Amino acid sequence: MAAADICIVRLSDGKQVEGESSASVESGLHAGVLLARPECGASVHTHQPIASAHTLLGRPLEVHDEVHCALLGRTIPCVGYAPSGTEKLATRVARTIKPDTHAYLMRNHGVVCVGIDADEAMRRVAALESECAAFFLTRVVDNSMKLDAAVHALVIDTLESVDRMPHQSRESANPPDPPRERGVKSTASEIIERLRDAKERFRAKGLFGDEGDSLSMRIPGREELVLVFPDSNDVQTKPFRTKGNDAAGFHAAIYRSRKDAGAVLTGRTQWSSALATIDTTIPVLFDEQARHIAKTGKPVVAGRNRCVLGALAGGGNIAIHGEQRVCIGTTPDRVVLNAELFEKCAKAFVVAYASGHRVQKVPAWERFVAGRRLRKDQKRAAESYAAGQVPQGMNAY
Ligand SMILES: [Zn+2]
Repeated sequence: MAAADICIVRLSDGKQVEGESSASVESGLHAGVLLARPECGASVHTHQPIASAHTLLGRPLEVHDEVHCALLGRTIPCVGYAPSGTEKLATRVARTIKPDTHAYLMRNHGVVCVGIDADEAMRRVAALESECAAFFLTRVVDNSMKLDAAVHALVIDTLESVDRMPHQSRESANPPDPPRERGVKSTASEIIERLRDAKERFRAKGLFGDEGDSLSMRIPGREELVLVFPDSNDVQTKPFRTKGNDAAGFHAAIYRSRKDAGAVLTGRTQWSSALATIDTTIPVLFDEQARHIAKTGKPVVAGRNRCVLGALAGGGNIAIHGEQRVCIGTTPDRVVLNAELFEKCAKAFVVAYASGHRVQKVPAWERFVAGRRLRKDQKRAAESYAAGQVPQGMNAY
């Protein structure tokens, strides 16, 4: 974030009065919080990983640590579900605000913390993450029977590392880099150039580079794809009719069945592969997930490519295949966003599931509305590709 990204929004009516970029969709949420707590100078909203996992339980958090208690309050409420960026969410949170409680969980979403200034609010953000980690640690240790040993160790290590992390570098689900889209008609050589560029960006983000990873893009207007692997600079061009059990045959089959797919990424990631060891399917947990990924089918045993195609046929953008996750996007930028978003969802789910508590889904009406918007985007992308063009405007969160 740079100074140019800062906007000034009037508290009384939410109108933006200064700043070039448009204000956050959650400015109404912040305004409601600051109006309800006039002595506070700062409110911070985050999707911090462990507290976000706690929001999936839909229950308040009792604070045990005395230092945290002084910072946060005795009980952190969990505000009922409302979609991100809506007035309903802002109203629900504002109604919950109390003078002696400085942090709030929002079901299937994230948190809000307040403070006299930004420093105090950020200390509360860190204290809340630490308290949520302590909550999960006790539960996960008691509940080890349910988990694969390696996943159990991963969850414990993740929870224990919360207090070791310096606050500044704490991972958060900030939106990824600004999408770089180039539009309309693209020649095959432009697509190859884009694929090479995407490969390096994916590698820099740790999404690409392991053995077994593969990345492909559709060449608009031609029944062909371009495919790359981490260990080679070669770009393979393959027709969609390519058959076979290798990566080329698999990618080709995805493009044959998903006319909206502009790019496909396969690979192994920590939390996605943890899902393959759990005896239940990851539900739709966050509204962004409903909007951009939709339902993820049951994990498919490695090598059963046809079952993966079946799992993706319903319009979902992620399938778990052995230890890998297969990710579809309408453009390479959308693939990055989907892959990062899904990893965040998988982490929150595995942590929440490991606690033995019931994990709440996003309500059915929200999944329905978000699913309809996703299908509309997919239809538009398919029409665009059929007309030989790369679709535009697909990358917003
Ligand atoms: Zn949010």
